[in-house]
Amino acid sequence: MARTPVPQDITQDPPGHLGILWDDGHRGRHAYRTLRERCPCAHCVDEWTGEGRLDPSKVPAGIHPREVGRVGAYALRFTWSDGHETGIYTFTFLREICECDACARMRTSASRPGKVP
Ligand SMILES: [Zn+2]
Ligand SMILES: [Zn+2]
Repeated sequence: MARTPVPQDITQDPPGHLGILWDDGHRGRHAYRTLRERCPCAHCVDEWTGEGRLDPSKVPAGIHPREVGRVGAYALRFTWSDGHETGIYTFTFLREICECDACARMRTSASRPGKVP
């Protein structure tokens, strides 16, 4: 397996979204809201069941990252406008939850049970 791709450039484009240009050429896209709701920290995800504990209705409407920081060579950390800042989003995780058109398409076809010939 190839090494994990690394973000080269992070933009806030289109508005309300975080754009990540990866060093393998992939252009990732993440809605702020989804990113916040998918926060993998112990406050937001039950450590035992892996189930989300975060109530999406409690995420403020205009949620956005106040700061995007790098954690070592493997993750990003967001400081959110609601003050939450304990989530560490590994690069692998970010690629898994990528919402760009290519990834969305791949996910739909993968979840479809049995392809029609
Ligand atoms: Zn969290
Ligand atoms: Zn993608």
